[in-house]
Amino acid sequence: MTGFAVRGWCPTAWRPMLAGDGLIVRVRPRLGQLSRAQILGLCEIANVHGNGMIDATSRANLQIRGVAEGNLPTLLDRLVALDLVDADRWMEERRAILVAPDWTEGDDSARIAGQLTARLGDLPDLPAKVGFGIDAGDAPVLGAGLADFRIERGADGGPILRAEGRATGVPVAVDAAAEALVALAHWFVESGGVVAGRMARHAAPLPDWARGEVAPAPARAPLQPGRHALGVTCGVAFGSMAAGALATLVEDSGAQAVRLTPWRMLLLEGARALSPMPEGFIAEAGHPLLRADACPGAPLCPQATVATRPLALRLARHLQGRLHISGCAKGCAHAGPVDVVATGRDGLFDLGLGARAGDPPSLSGLTPQQLLAHFGAD
Ligand code: SF4
Repeated sequence: MTGFAVRGWCPTAWRPMLAGDGLIVRVRPRLGQLSRAQILGLCEIANVHGNGMIDATSRANLQIRGVAEGNLPTLLDRLVALDLVDADRWMEERRAILVAPDWTEGDDSARIAGQLTARLGDLPDLPAKVGFGIDAGDAPVLGAGLADFRIERGADGGPILRAEGRATGVPVAVDAAAEALVALAHWFVESGGVVAGRMARHAAPLPDWARGEVAPAPARAPLQPGRHALGVTCGVAFGSMAAGALATLVEDSGAQAVRLTPWRMLLLEGARALSPMPEGFIAEAGHPLLRADACPGAPLCPQATVATRPLALRLARHLQGRLHISGCAKGCAHAGPVDVVATGRDGLFDLGLGARAGDPPSLSGLTPQQLLAHFGAD
């Protein structure tokens, strides 16, 4: 351990971020998959060396919360031993590869992700939020904003290389895809992309070899809770799990592995459905909490002046549309506009409709009770 980020935005295992409840340590499993032994080991580590809470992030990673600085070296040793963190911190920083979570052994997504993982050492230094998306199933499923350099299924039926922010891409052979992604990352750096920060904001014309006219195939819907060809899918309320509940879910469902998704949803491989689910997990598609986002808020985040999730829990079932309760104007839990957004400010909430966190509000200075009453939820 050689220091940690006091406040950053993309924590990694070797560069944890300090939150109100301690350090946050991010784990980025290969292909977004943890074996049964890895997930149970991670739950035990979170209980022993953290505060017992684990986040599922929008990049299909897990975060162990509440780690005391003194516990960090042992925690990292144990994550390395579980093969969940690379012992080489430079390599670990490069594991920003998001894979469509329903890949199958040997399919295009799995092959390309495996080949790119083997090429991590060939990547340049990239901004912290820049990442790769491997989405070469029957149709793309990873939404906008989740990746900067993509391989996805094209409308012509083959895989395409597409830079985020460009509507079309260029056909690429499966076994040439990883090389093309590495080359695109180098072009990004060499053409000044680091200043822009993300591919979508980088206006430089693409090189000829990365420019094509093939549109992505029509997107398919993200996974929903319920049975799945690979097992069972379940939602995670606000992306926040108690490690003990997660371990119970894995053990009682008989899951052989867990796949992470960017939708606060877990895919439990080979699992049977549980009823009831352990607290915090959602079995029903259409559950109101699947339409609700809420960041950790106070007291977990030092930027927050309001508690967020208790309000979201009470309000969500009274709304039909998407809800976002944000501890401050930063809007970490959801970047885009939603039907109803309540943003904390000086201990009260600003209410926006069809807006982002921090947008000019329709009503301001509301207490939680006033907000609930506004939607008939008192
Ligand atoms: S939105 Fe604000 S309060 Fe919520 S986690 Fe982000 S910085 Fe903290």
